[in-house]
Amino acid sequence: MFDFSGKNVLITGASYGLGEQFANEFASAGANLILTARSKEQLEEVAKACRQKGNDVLVVSGDVSIEKDVVRVISRAVDELGHIDILINNAGIADPRGVSPEQYDSETFNKILSIDLVGAFYYARECGRHMLERKSGSIVNICSIMASGGNENNVIGYTAAKGGLLNLTYQLGVEWADRGVRVNAVSPGFIVTEMTRPMLEAMGIDKWIASRTPMRRIGEAKEVTNAVMFLASDLASYITGVDLLVDGGTNASNGTFQIPPIHHEWNKGTPMIPTSYEPVQPRPEWYQALEDGIPGVHYPIDTSDDENTEK
Ligand code: NAP
Repeated sequence: MFDFSGKNVLITGASYGLGEQFANEFASAGANLILTARSKEQLEEVAKACRQKGNDVLVVSGDVSIEKDVVRVISRAVDELGHIDILINNAGIADPRGVSPEQYDSETFNKILSIDLVGAFYYARECGRHMLERKSGSIVNICSIMASGGNENNVIGYTAAKGGLLNLTYQLGVEWADRGVRVNAVSPGFIVTEMTRPMLEAMGIDKWIASRTPMRRIGEAKEVTNAVMFLASDLASYITGVDLLVDGGTNASNGTFQIPPIHHEWNKGTPMIPTSYEPVQPRPEWYQALEDGIPGVHYPIDTSDDENTEK
């Protein structure tokens, strides 16, 4: 579907999870890769699989929250491959403990922000400088469905970091729009990876998540990859500063019910209100309230003393 031949793509968090999937798919589409994360051995395994597809793959380990690591990774990439066309800002951590905001410890809050937000900023800024010089580049920040609203999962640090990353995407998208660098976000719903496997598979939360997702299922890593590759590619040449949600319709919903309403049999053609129910007929005085004003909510403007008002 995509052709990234001759493009150099830097992927953070490429040692496992979504980043590994991105690496494999970009390699299949002909890209040369710079893969980074903290686990060197796992990165080498991913690189080995990608090299078998005939691409140049550079592995440079580093921690996204350490500024000098970020500078070092990017310098090595530019030294060895010449330039960077695409940055996939993917590295991230979550917090599966389920601690409510009023109990949340500062140490974990700061740690999540330092990786998911500040680390992503370091990469965007450093790659951005390089791309601005070349007047060409595309950055995709991996945010989350939790970036754009509250939820009941007790993840205040993660939500704050991803919300910040989404706003950073909008800001960079605008600031660099006229200098050839596009910045977009992809926000996945729940996908089984190392990050989510313990809660999704071991605890059976996948069924609960599926039940409150309009598509009634959790997502596949490949479905996130498709969105990432689209925004990274020249097919998205007039798109910057957007958040592409890959969430089975969750963000579009005002809250999808986990059980069907008792008065409604889905897809059976029965009416919303059973026939035995006596429908309530609206009474004229209810509408009158709209004209007269509802006490305490709104009143009609009193024009009785207005000189211009016809009596
Ligand atoms: P994952 O399986 O836990 O993988 C996380 C990746 O980030 C690993 O490669 C890890 O490698 C790397 N990483 C973590 N901390 C790092 C650090 N300090 N420096 C450098 N690399 C670091 O998670 P995932 O599910 O693939 O998540 C990837 C991204 O998608 C994250 O930003 C996550 O927030 C986002 N996301 C995931 C889901 C989901 O349902 N899975 C949903 C929405 C958004 P090392 O441990 O080797 O450093």
